[in-house]
Amino acid sequence: MSREFIHSERIAYFTMEIALRPDIPTYSGGLGVLAGDTVRSAADLELPMVTVSLVSRAGYFHQRIDEAGCQREEPDPWEPASRAQPLQARVVVPIEGRDVWVGGWLYVLEGHMGGRQPVILLDTDLEDNSTEDRELTHYLYGGDQVYRLKQEIVLGIGGARMLHALGFRVRQYHMNEGHAALLCLELLNRYTYPPGDLRPGEPHYDIPRVREMCNFTTHTPVEAGHDKFPYALVQSVLGDFVDRPTLKLLAGEDQLNMTRLALNTSEYVNGVAKRHAETSRHLFPGYRVRAVTNGVHPFAWTHAAFATLYDEHLPGWCHEPELLIRAECCITDDAIWGAHLQAKQALVEQVQALTGVNLDPALCTFGFARRMTAYKRPDLLFTDIRRLRTIAGQRRFQIVLAGKAHPRDQDGKRAIEAMHVHMRELAGAVPVVFLPNYDMALAAAMVCGVDVWLNTPLPPWEASGTSGMKAAFNGVPNLSVLDGWWSEGRIEGVTGWGIGDGGPGEDDARSLYEKLEQVVLPLYYENRLGWIAVMKGAIAKNASFFNSHRMMRRYASDAYVR
Ligand SMILES: *Cc1c(COP(=O)(O)O)cnc(C)c1O
Repeated sequence: MSREFIHSERIAYFTMEIALRPDIPTYSGGLGVLAGDTVRSAADLELPMVTVSLVSRAGYFHQRIDEAGCQREEPDPWEPASRAQPLQARVVVPIEGRDVWVGGWLYVLEGHMGGRQPVILLDTDLEDNSTEDRELTHYLYGGDQVYRLKQEIVLGIGGARMLHALGFRVRQYHMNEGHAALLCLELLNRYTYPPGDLRPGEPHYDIPRVREMCNFTTHTPVEAGHDKFPYALVQSVLGDFVDRPTLKLLAGEDQLNMTRLALNTSEYVNGVAKRHAETSRHLFPGYRVRAVTNGVHPFAWTHAAFATLYDEHLPGWCHEPELLIRAECCITDDAIWGAHLQAKQALVEQVQALTGVNLDPALCTFGFARRMTAYKRPDLLFTDIRRLRTIAGQRRFQIVLAGKAHPRDQDGKRAIEAMHVHMRELAGAVPVVFLPNYDMALAAAMVCGVDVWLNTPLPPWEASGTSGMKAAFNGVPNLSVLDGWWSEGRIEGVTGWGIGDGGPGEDDARSLYEKLEQVVLPLYYENRLGWIAVMKGAIAKNASFFNSHRMMRRYASDAYVR
């Protein structure tokens, strides 16, 4: 490994997925985009980090929508050699009693301000492995529970061993979600009490020492969402990697719960928004769960027209996004609206190119794009088609949709089909388009090109959500349910608007229609200056705070240095 990366101690950041750039399909959604923004900010802030993930050669999947409006999944492979350098080092991990070889790639993330970050992409596709083992790092979130456990062994145990083999000195480990928690088992084996200190009947693992080195960010606010493996499976795949009583003590009595394991082996634990940390404290009584609200990377998610404006009026915003707080006074209304129209025109052209549909840039445009899964309630907006038609009869609007469903998420796939049905039902009244293959690039075009960013998850399932933060960097206000980051970011009528009361959500559709009809559309068409004031509110009060520079400075001061 080049001296540039190993001359001093680093923070090792472990993540199952990461959105490095649009043409590297090693991510599926928000968790990976957050990981990418984490490393992009680390590059700009020159934080000494090293990231570990899987190479996911076969990618996630490429989404095509067929004539019936159904999602079709197509392979989305990539060639690591085209973007990364092969690593010479090899390590082994124990799987089903055999040694599985793990190699990898060095991807150097180059920040736009000159910073460089090493990212290690682990790869088991090596000649010394069996055909089956060679595929372990091919499919992101593919395969069954056994495949997932093996992947997590590669990530956690293989990752820790690889850093060691490459000569990295790690001062702290940071697990982005529970997928990487097996790394703690590797550390337990590495840090044991010297034999002289052994007390009979007590585990010889130096658990306090491991805890001192580990940090854990949880992203899942409901028990059912956590990765769990039956101990019989763990036994057959991982064997006696650490002794069973210790494993049960740390990872749960009945099953190996990756979240429990990470909670018990990490001194610093956090949720990804204030509300999410609160929910997590209820879910895991007895643990101290702090809150570090997520953020997005300033430069990556800001349209060139806005970046130019910020450069001119708020120089330094890319390093200190807090400066955006001055946007309200320092940038004229005309300049904000002009930049927005450029971004909107670009989206209108992209929609034309992708779908053949001509949207009208003069219409108020709503954007909704995310992972299509039940709790995100992609159908909420379409609860009452007649009502939507009535609202559009008074003031017209149009809708741009996108999102992938996990190949095995039947609810998510049905939601995509249903959206296509609604599209036809609304024909002539509300133009609706669905853009296929939601990814980083499409997200970047959508969050700046619409007028309002819509989010309607079922509380309290949305741990944070980050796409609305991307919108804020482009002066696009949110209209969203009061969950995740929006319970912190929403100042009613100032940064955008809330839907419902953040409760169990029965009345959310009604609340959404009321806001649309009585607040959002009238403001858009009848008080343009008032509208631009909300755009500025989103930039000044949301983008200045909900960015990954602030997030990483928090991790640095609260978690990494302690
Ligand atoms: C930002 C982003 C997400 C996360 O958005 P949410 O608001 O958390 O749903 C998911 N997928 C892609 C491609 C993104 O860019």
